[in-house]
Amino acid sequence: MRKKIIAANWKMNMTCGEAASYLEIFLRELGTDGEKVEVVIVPPFTAIQKVSELLSTAQSVKVGAQNMYFEKSGAFTGEVSAAMLRELFVRYVVLGHSERRTIFGETDEVVNRKTHAAHEAVLKPIVCIGETLAERDGGKVEEVLDRQIRGSLAGLSAKELTETVLAYEPVWAIGTGRTATPQQAQDAHAFIRKTLANVWDVPTADKVRIQYGGSVKPENAALLMGQADIDGALVGGASLDPRAFAQIVKQSASE
Ligand code: PEP
Repeated sequence: MRKKIIAANWKMNMTCGEAASYLEIFLRELGTDGEKVEVVIVPPFTAIQKVSELLSTAQSVKVGAQNMYFEKSGAFTGEVSAAMLRELFVRYVVLGHSERRTIFGETDEVVNRKTHAAHEAVLKPIVCIGETLAERDGGKVEEVLDRQIRGSLAGLSAKELTETVLAYEPVWAIGTGRTATPQQAQDAHAFIRKTLANVWDVPTADKVRIQYGGSVKPENAALLMGQADIDGALVGGASLDPRAFAQIVKQSASE
């Protein structure tokens, strides 16, 4: 059984003060439902320490980061390392989000180096993949996913792969209000798992958790989370509302 993992990607939102008000409401709304799934709050770097402090007694809610650099230290202005995140009790790091790929030019090769660096530091990567609308319309979904999987995850051992979370995020569904239908999402997830089985092996692929991301909200979470190969959600916009995010977690916990 794969335990579902629901992550709140706050992107470039939330000051420390806003994060504190958010968590007060979120933890109250969540109650004990958070224990049935893994919940990860992914704040901007500047709010990580505050969020870690506030979550130190909430066993079931972990802290993630939105990015990191693959080098250990040095002259890399503006970057942070895996060890710096670990020091703040960060457990997960989102890598290769489509916004990083398109706005900041991250390639599969860069994502791959970051993925290895995260594992070396015992941080669990959440590696994002997904096609653009033009690629979907051009019938290239499988080709794109295959390339991103082989490129971003190259050289991982089977153990590292099982400690990696994949996030299938069709770019056309991110922040657009357009969601993949449960069937479209399930088809993509099944293809991703089949590809993992081809590159590694079936038992390893069966252990990997694959999140769906792209306009997940309380209204569509249950249907998406009910699909066989969907093991959680990476939530952007709706995760900024603590009540909406708590609802999404609760819906996922009952699937
Ligand atoms: C995301 O940024 O990972 C995301 C899925 O955003 P949204 O939920 O707003 O589409």
